[in-house]
Amino acid sequence: MYLVCVLCLFIMPIHLSTPIEKLTRVGKVTSGRLKKLGILSVKNLLEHYPFRFDDYSQILRTDKLSEGSLGSLFGTITKIEAKKTARRHMMITEAHLDDGRGSIKIIWFNQPYITETLHEGDTIAIAGKVENDFTGWVIKNPNFEKARSLDSTVHTARLVPVYPATGGITQKQIRFLITQALEASEEFSDIIPHEAAEKADLISKTSALRNIHLPRSASDYLAALRRLKFEELFFIQLLTEQSKKSLKSAIAPKIAFNIKETKKLVESLPFSLTDDQRRAAWQILQDMERVTPMNRLLQGDVGSGKTAVAAIAALNASVGGWQTAFMAPTEILALQHYETIRAMFPNHSVAALTSKHQRISGPVIAREGTPDRGNPAPQSIDDGIAEPVPSISEGSLNTRTRNDIKKAIADGRIDIVIGTHAIIQDDVSFNNLGLIIIDEQHRFGVEQRKKLKDKSAFVRMGFKTHPNECVPHFLSMTATPIPRSLALTLYGDLDISTIRQMPAGRKPIQTRIVEENSRQKAYEFIKQKIAAKKQVFVICPLIEESDALGVKSATREYKKLHEKIFPHLSIGLLHGKLKSAEKEKIMNDFKENRISMLVSTAVVEVGVDVPNAAVMMIEGAERFGLSQLHQFRGRIGRGEHQSHCFLFTDSKNPETARRLQSFIRAKDGFEIAEIDLSMRGPGQIYGTTQSGYLTDLKLAKLTDSDLIAETREYARVLLEKDPKLKKHPELKFALEKRRAEFHFE
Ligand code: ADP
Ligand code: MG
Repeated sequence: MYLVCVLCLFIMPIHLSTPIEKLTRVGKVTSGRLKKLGILSVKNLLEHYPFRFDDYSQILRTDKLSEGSLGSLFGTITKIEAKKTARRHMMITEAHLDDGRGSIKIIWFNQPYITETLHEGDTIAIAGKVENDFTGWVIKNPNFEKARSLDSTVHTARLVPVYPATGGITQKQIRFLITQALEASEEFSDIIPHEAAEKADLISKTSALRNIHLPRSASDYLAALRRLKFEELFFIQLLTEQSKKSLKSAIAPKIAFNIKETKKLVESLPFSLTDDQRRAAWQILQDMERVTPMNRLLQGDVGSGKTAVAAIAALNASVGGWQTAFMAPTEILALQHYETIRAMFPNHSVAALTSKHQRISGPVIAREGTPDRGNPAPQSIDDGIAEPVPSISEGSLNTRTRNDIKKAIADGRIDIVIGTHAIIQDDVSFNNLGLIIIDEQHRFGVEQRKKLKDKSAFVRMGFKTHPNECVPHFLSMTATPIPRSLALTLYGDLDISTIRQMPAGRKPIQTRIVEENSRQKAYEFIKQKIAAKKQVFVICPLIEESDALGVKSATREYKKLHEKIFPHLSIGLLHGKLKSAEKEKIMNDFKENRISMLVSTAVVEVGVDVPNAAVMMIEGAERFGLSQLHQFRGRIGRGEHQSHCFLFTDSKNPETARRLQSFIRAKDGFEIAEIDLSMRGPGQIYGTTQSGYLTDLKLAKLTDSDLIAETREYARVLLEKDPKLKKHPELKFALEKRRAEFHFE
């Protein structure tokens, strides 16, 4: 059997594209397990990098052993047997290894099959930690392999790689497979241009792959690491640089800053804008006046008033005759924005579109034809037949009405469309989309971003004179600020506006961790607040993975509060499983203070604005990320009253306490994002939701700021010299492939 396998190893050439099942000793079970690790091909296997190394490179001698030393021994097995221990009836395999100078005992626990592989007289190498127990020197559970010399060992006598693994797959198996896969490593082409590689002192891709898995020394490993990280980052930098350039060469609608209308809107607000809001709005309006598409991120802490700024942008687009698509990650938030914007713009047609809801308000204008560039769509009401449509709510609405609204969007009769990702569905098309606003953009996934791109492509097609050239202005908003290093990596030259200032009169929220034995006191406090007509949020986390919506825990908490603690109060329960209409009713009741306390899952995490709420209670606080906690806390403190945030946790883990304390100490969302980033890594915060290509970073870290800067410069220089990458066809091909895979913007 073994011989046959060894033969197939020689006969069957291994390529990067070879499926994993074709490798020696990979059957159905193993390949299934490997798939769980994302390994389907030899290429995947080679890119499954070790996360640490055990240093067994020191060769130990049986005559010079010392307690606790790590290393390898090489010699002959003089005795081996599997037996049960007398006391605990454990299966152990006991062997003795003679290295010519003396002997050492080896014990493997629960691995009786070892006696089938190893026999007396075999020369083997073992690696592990030496101990001295009452019987003498012993090494327990060492790695082992048969070896004629120590030159080509994989599991011993070297820096031994340790890989991310899953149940049923051993480190030894992965290493064995890696050694097979390495044969194909030469097929990787060196796509980093020779000149850059030389200047940056990079080793070849093939040696990098060998040394990332099986380095001879730490310095070999570091050189390999640098080479591979460089490639990952260089790639992203090239993509960023390219899209920046293509965006610069694209044409966007020139939307004039309408001072009169803007002033009118600003004056109609029940507050005066902060200087930061004014500055951000000014920057956005200036961008929109240019014919290059705006690509701006508006970041501002929770409650800093980003919606008003977005409204100013939408107003100007609308007055200029362009449609705005305003997208929010949750239905609750989308409908909230719809209500806000609708009230602000009585003279504009505003529609809401979520998967369950559709509404319109304001005058819906009949328009003809599509506008050409330079000949903008007709101005507001004057140019069309005003056809006021009352706000329609779910229930009274049938599919025809939904289709009517879609048609009105397609005809350009709706100025502002607010919704969830439903507005980027295939059957929704715009007539003259001039501005896209994405709220809480860190909550959108790769797929949705791609759809949005397609939507923009559709818009481009709508322009008769300049096909493929006109793209809408793009404004994204977030309260989870992006640290500088990340921004550079992800977006290159994305323009950023920041609102640092909170509206006047806001009092800092008092946050504290509440011990279980003070729970009653917290409830008393809440009672007083409610008596003073203030409102309370209670957030419940997921209980188990399967309870992905946290429904169980929220329901349970609701029952407890409703039946036992506050029987006389009106309490609402909100979670994602409720019907859309129910959700909205509860949200409205809470907004109008018909409900004093809202028990909710994370559905209210972002955006929800109920200024009268003064207490935020978070159960199981340790289960949330800090940025998420910050978002929850941002639901309160939106008025001039003092607000309080209580974090409940029964975790005894000191790490949790430290984390929550740092949350309490942090002065704003910016600091919290930095702490979160350093604690959890970008994948947790931005990776999975925001960007496929970021999760594609296997080795490089966003803290590799020097390398980020270095690769950025190399990418810039290369594209300056060879903008179309004509001289680097392989690199060009690889980039295009990656761009298609990740819908890179
Ligand atoms: P976020 O930046 O979190 O999206 P919102 O736009 O929801 O914040 O605004 C939070 C609350 O602050 C809202 O109730 C809004 O009406 C109010 N607000 C916005 N700007 C100001 C301001 N300049 N002064 C007072 N209140 C404001
Ligand atoms: Mg908001």
